[in-house]
Amino acid sequence: MKKILTSVIIFTLVVSFLLSPKVHATTLKEYEDAVNKYTKELQEKEAKIAKNDAEVAQIKARISQIENEIAAALKEIEQLEIEIDNSNKEIAKKEDESKKIMEYYQLSEGENAYLEYAFGAQTITDMIYRVSIVEQLTEYNNQVMHELEELIKTNQQKTEELANKNKELDKLKDELQDQKERIQADTDSILETVPTVKEQIRVYQEQVNYWKNKGCKSNDILGVTCAVPPKVSSSGFAASDIIGANGFRLPMDHGYLTQNFSGKGGHMGIDIGSTNKSEPIFPIANGLVIYVGKDSAGANVVKIVHNVNGNLLFSTYAHMRAVYFKKNQTVTINDTLGLMGMTGNATGPHLHLEMTTCDWTYNCTYAQYKNQLVSPWNYIPNITRW
Ligand SMILES: [Zn+2]
Repeated sequence: MKKILTSVIIFTLVVSFLLSPKVHATTLKEYEDAVNKYTKELQEKEAKIAKNDAEVAQIKARISQIENEIAAALKEIEQLEIEIDNSNKEIAKKEDESKKIMEYYQLSEGENAYLEYAFGAQTITDMIYRVSIVEQLTEYNNQVMHELEELIKTNQQKTEELANKNKELDKLKDELQDQKERIQADTDSILETVPTVKEQIRVYQEQVNYWKNKGCKSNDILGVTCAVPPKVSSSGFAASDIIGANGFRLPMDHGYLTQNFSGKGGHMGIDIGSTNKSEPIFPIANGLVIYVGKDSAGANVVKIVHNVNGNLLFSTYAHMRAVYFKKNQTVTINDTLGLMGMTGNATGPHLHLEMTTCDWTYNCTYAQYKNQLVSPWNYIPNITRW
């Protein structure tokens, strides 16, 4: 008796030792870290969007400023064109006046009218007077017309300069519009990814809240070192002989043994067939899915860890044609784990059920795993056809 007790203590120590440094299962901290990671990512995205928005606002202000400048220049051009027009009218008026002066003093028609007018004077004084008055008037008009022509030239130059300036402003405006669109496109692409990140935060936060509610601490292994699945009950099960007094159930509602357990070096589990080729498979006890994958022959393999009064127990299900759970999901005896099948090395549809006290995907080596095989009949109801 003392020897057995010592063995149990040593075994417990070995399991604890194996457990602590090698565990791969999800801890609450992993979910908390994920929440933090995605929250940080969201904050970065929001900061970038805010920065982009500020840049766009600045560009918009600059564009509106340019538009004002363009409008002012256009107004100025309009004003200059009016001035040019007025100057032209003034020139025409002066030309007309000069013509009229000439006509007024013209005594007879002909090319030499001016000379005839000048020389038609009665006295030399009169002649000088006549010449000087015509010269003064025409000279004055010439002077005014010259000044007007200069003004037109200046105004035309100004108009041209303003038009060139507007062309540059238009170009700058286009560039700013392009820049604005590029930033907005960047913002849009960031915005597209935001819902996904928010969803990640929501999903992980939900996990954190769920497990915290169940009393889990950061470094706890979810469903294993905290929030251990409740002891199974037969409530809701019509076939009461499917579930044993210890809470373990048969992995199918209907089935029959096709090959028995022979332990290390032999058949490592039990094979169960069913008349329904796609019989639903149930976990033999509540637990946490620790592995979903394929073996070297291509069989679907699912592994579940169970906590039996503080001791870990593992069940492996092979050959299923469909698997409905993923790693790190908790399962109860009421969950359909998958459907019976013949994936991998199998001659017909059946379930291969294997049980151990450690698992090579979880807390021990494959050699240790083979040494710790247990007969499923130690746990599930001992019936060979049901
Ligand atoms: Zn088998």
